[in-house]
Amino acid sequence: MAKVTAEQISAAYQVSKNIFSKKIKRAEGIELLSNTYHLNKASAGDFINCFKCLMEGRVFQRAMSSSAMDFFMSSITTDFSIERQENALNALYKHIEYWESHYKTNALSMRKIANYYLKGIEQNLTTDSIYQQLEQSVAESLKLTSYERLNKIRASNPIPKKILVSSTVYQRNQHVVAERLNTANGTCERCNKKAPFLRAKDNTPYLEVHHKKQLGHGGLDVLENTIALCPNCHRELHFGI
Ligand SMILES: [Zn+2]
Ligand SMILES: [Zn+2]
Repeated sequence: MAKVTAEQISAAYQVSKNIFSKKIKRAEGIELLSNTYHLNKASAGDFINCFKCLMEGRVFQRAMSSSAMDFFMSSITTDFSIERQENALNALYKHIEYWESHYKTNALSMRKIANYYLKGIEQNLTTDSIYQQLEQSVAESLKLTSYERLNKIRASNPIPKKILVSSTVYQRNQHVVAERLNTANGTCERCNKKAPFLRAKDNTPYLEVHHKKQLGHGGLDVLENTIALCPNCHRELHFGI
């Protein structure tokens, strides 16, 4: 790829992003980059492909300059979800492997970039991603025999590792919770059974107020979007089939 300026890189990123989210057509994007930013059409196409591969975690073969790669990775970090960021990093590592085995060389500057963003992602673990990872690793462990597993347990460090995670929590309206509990009056609104126990601190029936459409998915914190559940029903709604 020919030497490109910072302005061209930034434009190529924006255009690739708009093509990926289907705001503009690929051909329009290439025209724009070529006419307005004087990027040659082949390079424009390479940027667009590369971006798509980053988003989807797939290997790309054409090399980007390290400054362009750095710009793409840092923009993806600010613009996209952790899943997309992980895809981008996987794609980059696949690209490095391809490049190193194909050209029998060390892609040092690319490795430096990949390692930098890997650290960022590790520090960006969320409570959710930790639980997801645990569920996956448990599924893997279940494939072992009990004998193999017990050996692994014996060889493991018994002191649990501590990690710092960041999480987004929604500040819920206490009046919505209270009114929903008041309406439920000690009975699960799903299975209609009595709350399984009373809270030790005040002897009130233990029910959990759940959002039918989760706040994280755009649900509103209003009475109509809530339901008071026993812990069993609540777990089932979150984890059942
Ligand atoms: Zn229930
Ligand atoms: Zn819930």
